[in-house]
Amino acid sequence: MPTPVLISFDTEDFIGPAADDALLRLAKLLTSKGIRGSFCMVGEKARVLRDRGRKDVLKALEPHEIGFHSRDHSIHPTIAPRCEELGWTKGLENLRQLELPAMQWVREIFNRDRLLAAVPPGSNCAPQAIWAYRQAAVPCYVGGYFGAADGKLYWYLGALNVPYTFYADGQCMQHEAEAVFERFSAQAGRPCAVLCIHPTILVHQKFWDGVNFPAGTNRSREQWEPAPLRPPEEIERAFARLSKFLDLIAADPRFEWFDYEQLLTETRRASHIARVRETWPVAHFAHLMDGPDWVHVPHEGSLSPQAALGELAARVTGDPSWRERLSTRRLPGPVEEPLRCDDEVNVTREEVLNGLWRIQSRIGSEETGLPASWPVNGRHVGPGKFLSALTQVALGKDEIRIAAGVPEEPASVARVGLDKWQYGGWLYKPGFEGHKNRALARRMAWTLAPA
Ligand SMILES: [Zn+2]
Repeated sequence: MPTPVLISFDTEDFIGPAADDALLRLAKLLTSKGIRGSFCMVGEKARVLRDRGRKDVLKALEPHEIGFHSRDHSIHPTIAPRCEELGWTKGLENLRQLELPAMQWVREIFNRDRLLAAVPPGSNCAPQAIWAYRQAAVPCYVGGYFGAADGKLYWYLGALNVPYTFYADGQCMQHEAEAVFERFSAQAGRPCAVLCIHPTILVHQKFWDGVNFPAGTNRSREQWEPAPLRPPEEIERAFARLSKFLDLIAADPRFEWFDYEQLLTETRRASHIARVRETWPVAHFAHLMDGPDWVHVPHEGSLSPQAALGELAARVTGDPSWRERLSTRRLPGPVEEPLRCDDEVNVTREEVLNGLWRIQSRIGSEETGLPASWPVNGRHVGPGKFLSALTQVALGKDEIRIAAGVPEEPASVARVGLDKWQYGGWLYKPGFEGHKNRALARRMAWTLAPA
């Protein structure tokens, strides 16, 4: 099967009018080649297009997919520092207050029922944003935490997480189309390739927000100014290269154009989880005895650690509602740091089952997510240790031993590099590291599984 290629635009510059013209030109260029682009819009940008009377731009975008790229992108405090300050619950509240109305502007101005993808502005990844967008029916989170190096797709916090794998704008500014294609073609055979293009940077020498919102500071609205323009011949060269680069992709049978809607449909089709997970042999879950991790069954699909916990609970209790109760569409991972317990715990099968009955009514709140503390025989352990015990029950053991070293963090955190992920870029105040949010993102790996 050819590698799906998406062409995704971070459509964000609401200051420089030349960016509107670049957007128009890109939309027409793609239409003329029969390619459906995905234009992820900043809410303010959508309003500016309307207020400047750019009906020509809105019209040119009609055949293309429209996504979301935050309310105002770079106005401080941006999403990540806000979420770092506010934590999970208040962060969600804040995002719902600010982002959801802006999504509505985009839907109305572009006359769309649904936005398929949301892109974090300037690496402003936050678990709160993925969850808030997903709960507002945006199924894909793009250019987030995973997959940039290998094009892999992941389910995380209920959303399909899609990587940006190739920054075609920077490449076309620097190299001839053939050289750009040569670099790009290394992505053949991967699960997907996503070209990211910022319309604004094809016509401006610098990023618009670097000029107006550098390093955590806001210029006042009256002082906003467009970034300096590129010389016309440089702009023409970039568009010519981009056009040729797209032709080279189109001519290569190893690649096939996609949009987010198709990617979502095909990914769901490729996984049969909902139908057959009940029949997966319990041996596929045995590694969970040693700590939380995803469960992957070749040619069948994957379950996140949280979904695996639900699956095993359903099996040992005979109550199928556990699958739904711990579904990562309904329940986020642990909001609080899971309880640490450093000693070995020995319990019986009955005591583990009792723990499930006792915690059952406490599960279901978005504010808590997966409980950080699980009762077993008069004491409490973290969900990782409880999952270890439950796995042993499912494997048919009566005497359960939870080893002292069973970790609480899913092994998948290190496997996908979430432990090394960092905030980068010029937007943040110097020294911003987002420790709390990075720790939260790691805990949310309870909802992580390969797509
Ligand atoms: Zn952006």
